[in-house]
Amino acid sequence: MFKRILIANRGEIALRIMRACQELGVETVCVYSTADKDAPYLKLADRAICIGPGPAKESYLNIARLIAAAEITGAEAIHPGYGFLSERPDFSQACRDCKIEFIGPSPEAMGALGDKVECKKTAKAAGVPVFPGSENAIEEEDEAVRVAKDIGYPVIIKAAAGGGGRGMKVCRDEATLRGQLRVASQEALAAFGNGAVFIEKFLEDAQHVEVQCLADKHGNAVHLWERNCSMQRRHQKVIEEAPSPGVDRAVMQKICEGAAKLLPTVKYAGAATCEFLMDRKQNFYMLEVNTRVQVEHPVTEMITGIDIVKTSIKIAAGEKLAFKQSDIKINGHAMECRINAEDPDQGFRPSAGKIDTWQAPGGLGVRMDTHVSSGYTVPPNYDSMIAKLICHAETREACIQRTLRALREFKVGPIKTTIPLQARLMQDENFRKGGVDIHYLERLLSAKH
Ligand code: ADP
Repeated sequence: MFKRILIANRGEIALRIMRACQELGVETVCVYSTADKDAPYLKLADRAICIGPGPAKESYLNIARLIAAAEITGAEAIHPGYGFLSERPDFSQACRDCKIEFIGPSPEAMGALGDKVECKKTAKAAGVPVFPGSENAIEEEDEAVRVAKDIGYPVIIKAAAGGGGRGMKVCRDEATLRGQLRVASQEALAAFGNGAVFIEKFLEDAQHVEVQCLADKHGNAVHLWERNCSMQRRHQKVIEEAPSPGVDRAVMQKICEGAAKLLPTVKYAGAATCEFLMDRKQNFYMLEVNTRVQVEHPVTEMITGIDIVKTSIKIAAGEKLAFKQSDIKINGHAMECRINAEDPDQGFRPSAGKIDTWQAPGGLGVRMDTHVSSGYTVPPNYDSMIAKLICHAETREACIQRTLRALREFKVGPIKTTIPLQARLMQDENFRKGGVDIHYLERLLSAKH
């Protein structure tokens, strides 16, 4: 096991990784920008080191500064968390070049799954279902039109190097497709430095179902079942749960097993998530693979009892997975609410500033993953998520009741948060039934105004 790990992240995930390290008896070095200098979680690290000013480009996204911090502090490994540099092959490569273990996949594995066109080919070859569409990046307009005719409209144009839900264009007819192809390619070039685009079938009312996987350096891979994250606003997840309500377990098992098998084909080591869209008939189509730990990993931890962060550190240290697929059972139901410092009544305007009131919920089956406490000031520089409330219970119904109870207990002020919205959703008839699609929340919000 490593002696010392540097955590190249901030906020709740920095604290989450720190907790895993401490339980493993590993020393922690936590980096921070000047905007985070007073954050209370820094005191829990063995060492905290400033890596630059508030703007992420000059701190959490600055590879040279992070590597220097690891070298100065004698850290043998770096955990990237999620966001920031976590999915950048050049960061994984820089760690390798400097003989620092990157806690995550190799640059090669990350690259193979990070390019959406390549990823689809790999998935298809491994027997994982993907959307029908172009096999390669589109070279000519006529080719796109041919493919679209073949698979039928609507289709969606996507960037091979895309991310963050950006740069996608839905086309419902040939004229739009012809008009949008060049625009999409130019936008992709500007945003991602790669103008390659492809098209695939567009699914109207899908659910988002994703499979958590873990693979070690010895060719072993398992899945930890699925999560349903269909409650979204602008492609941002608002509530996540596991297992997915209303899926046929036999169908789900097959999809999960396929996802796990995909990883060894690219020599992947670490935690990964295969994201799928599911239609009304429970057909699955893989969207992409996230090559890092995800925000919503705790719901899977709650139903399986497996510590995903600790396991990812053990994998990086070269250990074999300590469990087999048959050991991984689903116990009860778990749900996560991402609590954001935003005002749902003001178009989700960010609500940064000092928190005077912070009364966190507790009790049986309630887990709070947060770096925030009373007196904390939410800096305006970063993501607005300030806490994850995760509840676990025997059944989905009991889990919803527990989440609602915990949300009612949760008092934050004077900043605004998404707590009232999530409390409302826990009482929403359609959500309680299960099976809402990925556009449900936006429809609900626009109906209200
Ligand atoms: P990104 O990497 O930018 O997040 P994804 O491929 O994961 O891109 O897609 C982001 C979101 O766009 C999905 O969660 C879904 O809402 C929508 N989307 C992408 N592809 C399709 C598709 N073929 N049909 C319907 N919706 C899609």
